[in-house]
Amino acid sequence: MPELPEVEALSAFLAERLTGREIARVQPVAISALKTYDPPVTALEGRTVGGVSRHGKFLDVEAGGLHLVVHLARAGWLRWKDALPAEPPRPSPRNPLALRLRLAGEAGDGFDLTEAGTKKGLAVYVVADPAEVPGVARLGPDPLDPAFTAADFAALLHGERRRLKGVLRDQTVLAGVGNAYSDEVLHAARMSPFKLASSLTDEETARLYEALGTTLRDAVERSRGLAAGELKAEKKVGLRVHGRTGLPCPVCGDTVREVSFADSSLQYCPTCQTGGKPLADRRLSRLLK
Ligand SMILES: [Zn+2]
Repeated sequence: MPELPEVEALSAFLAERLTGREIARVQPVAISALKTYDPPVTALEGRTVGGVSRHGKFLDVEAGGLHLVVHLARAGWLRWKDALPAEPPRPSPRNPLALRLRLAGEAGDGFDLTEAGTKKGLAVYVVADPAEVPGVARLGPDPLDPAFTAADFAALLHGERRRLKGVLRDQTVLAGVGNAYSDEVLHAARMSPFKLASSLTDEETARLYEALGTTLRDAVERSRGLAAGELKAEKKVGLRVHGRTGLPCPVCGDTVREVSFADSSLQYCPTCQTGGKPLADRRLSRLLK
């Protein structure tokens, strides 16, 4: 799933290509992806893009007072095309295409929103104000907002009874951090994903705040200037523990371990994060019984 750094890079990539251009056609293909109907997507046609921005993991294309807000979810992606096919896209169960946006002009350039797999989560909204999108309205502060200070972060964790892993990826607490970057931030901070947020000392809170900013800024920096098609590979290369079960930790060489849940898993380094002790993996311990 694209998280803050990838969506930030996509937003910059699109801003360069869309700003000042007129939208010629918007063609929804997978109707289930469309979450609003008034105004219709076709209301974007003929409007000029004023800018592209990001709210957490949401992309926001503003055109003539309307906003096309997109959440790519787990398996959604954006594919830029210098020349889109002239024939209209045809819906089919096997077609990953969810929506096509074509710019005005002879080139026929624009983008496709696609979604692979069966768990459909890609969501598209057309609204006058991004805050009309419930997921956007609920977002917590953006960790890369210069106004988001260490004191703000400490206030978020104060009295928080959940474990760090769950808190960091909760969009209503912090906007934009998901499963991958929460693993990376905790590894950088040398903290167990199961540590209780309220148990952090002042020093640990400061260290986690620092790791949060550094990890995300580094990832944004690496993704900057990359084409939409290159972002997924770049994200993978930059990760130290997430998705690297069984591989050596690049910091200490210990083997990266995993804890599995019903629909996700987390990765961590025991030496760097849990005093060398592996965390209990319920799925694994059940299998061993
Ligand atoms: Zn390590």
